Amino acid sequence: MGLAKTRNVLQGTGGAPGIAMGTARVVDCLRLHFIEYPITPEQIPREIERLTHALEGARSELRRVRHELSADRGPEHLYIIDAHLLILEDSMIVREVTGFIRGEEINAEAAIRRTTHKFLRHFAAMKDDYLRERGRDIETVMERILHQMAGNHTSPLPLFSEKSILVAHDFSPADMLQLQTSSVAGVITDLGGKNSHTAILARALEIPAVLGMGNATSVISDGDLVVIDGARGVVEINPDNETLDSYGRRKQRYDYLEQELDKLRDLPAETPDGYRIALQGNVEFPEEIPAILTHGGEGIGLYRTELLFMNRHTLPDEEEQYAAYAAIIRAAAPHTVCIRTLDVGGDKLITTPDPTEEANPALGVRAIRLSLREPVLFRTQLRAILRAALLGPTRIFFPMISGLQELLAAKACLHEAKMELSRQGVAYHHGIETGIMIEIPSAVLIADLLAREVDFFSVGTNDLIQYTLAIDRANDRLAHLYEPLHPALLRSLKIVADAAHAAGIRACICGEMAGDPDYLPILLGLGYDELSMSPLAIPRVKRVLRRCPKSEAVQVAVKALSYDTASDVENYLKREITARFSDSFD
Ligand code: PEP
Ligand code: MG
Repeated sequence: MGLAKTRNVLQGTGGAPGIAMGTARVVDCLRLHFIEYPITPEQIPREIERLTHALEGARSELRRVRHELSADRGPEHLYIIDAHLLILEDSMIVREVTGFIRGEEINAEAAIRRTTHKFLRHFAAMKDDYLRERGRDIETVMERILHQMAGNHTSPLPLFSEKSILVAHDFSPADMLQLQTSSVAGVITDLGGKNSHTAILARALEIPAVLGMGNATSVISDGDLVVIDGARGVVEINPDNETLDSYGRRKQRYDYLEQELDKLRDLPAETPDGYRIALQGNVEFPEEIPAILTHGGEGIGLYRTELLFMNRHTLPDEEEQYAAYAAIIRAAAPHTVCIRTLDVGGDKLITTPDPTEEANPALGVRAIRLSLREPVLFRTQLRAILRAALLGPTRIFFPMISGLQELLAAKACLHEAKMELSRQGVAYHHGIETGIMIEIPSAVLIADLLAREVDFFSVGTNDLIQYTLAIDRANDRLAHLYEPLHPALLRSLKIVADAAHAAGIRACICGEMAGDPDYLPILLGLGYDELSMSPLAIPRVKRVLRRCPKSEAVQVAVKALSYDTASDVENYLKREITARFSDSFD
């Protein structure tokens, strides 16, 4: 009986690592199909009323989901729902849709679709991956409004009785948060990329995910046997027994290593000879905090505040910022949160204030340079951070410092913000620890001068590599020249750590290099005190740390610094170091 099921292998984007096998359930989150039809001028008010109605429905539906989730999962997962509520309340979107209804004389559904496409085109043109993904948030919200118009008021996911792989055009964040982790083994979507909210939530919930497949919902049928490899972005449909066995073995190994890593969670981040360093997480959303804590992270070494400022038409005021910082600080307590002041410009765009057209944005009005040019914007952020810092251990630090004068100017602004709060009788943290990012070669060379003025350094290796080697970090064609182990980089890392320690301040790293377990022996050997990384990297780095004596790491660092080229250093690490301290996770 029945036809043999078709075998197929598809490639998508790895959204969340892990291997999952199960029965495909193509869930009904498919886009609704509407036709566009002309309306008469007399019908315009009715279409606008239908739109208003649907907007109200979508709002109350989201509020209900929010309410249920806050009872179920606690407040830290609600940020995305709040972001969607904000989109629903954005008058610009309503203006656009009504503009299409009136101007083009078309039905409300078609006007919503046209508005969505307009926004998507706008976001698609953005260079930054993260921002491109934010266009999807608008699309998700628009789909929700369309569902309301179709009289489809809720879109709860069904419950699944067996291990299932959910396949959908896209999942809204609300869908993701409702996933029954006990029965859902993995997710596959047509839309979404590495930085989509679906990916962020899948990683936070630790559900293997392959996203951005384009046509998964048409190629995969309900009931197909599927295997997904969330790290490589591969989906096998109805694999043969041999393939299935090989994935089975890899899954066993992966799960075993995860369990082993889990055991490290409550063990100290300490070398066998008793030297401790702090392993922390980098975050952009409150949703990521639970993953840091469950992976044994000790606080947040980098909270990138820029996302609060992106993707919107008005700047967040002091109260909105205060609420966001307070949520992060409360969720991370009793651990420390290092809040970085606004770092936009370069490849990180902001819609307000308009980014000036610059020939060379990475060398332009970016980060602290923008903050110092926009004193009101800067002071508002500093005030919000100073106030929120009363709620738990908090540090503040400035991105892209290139010289002493700039640092003194930033500190003067911080001082002014404090004085203003004092004059107004507003409570704030008087002695907040202050630091800087070291990500420009000039800052490396004068690290001794800068160290006198701050409580900590945090090296942003992503930018330090970019500016030291003159390699655009977003240029794929130059990726082979983007070498973390370049001798210039290693020497810079040594200068910074030595300068920090000579001045008695902490040396930290929060660039991607900190999260690569292979580099741990060098960073430990150079004497770094704190490493901040993506949450999932924490146990992997801790595993190497707990196996690598500090005394040996010092020798590794000395040896690594003696090589002439990055590939020599890499060969040395591969040959002698990596095999001893780490495991391959493939
Ligand atoms: C860095 O440059 O290494 C860093 C952590 O900052 P960002 O990636 O946000 O520029
Ligand atoms: Mg940076």
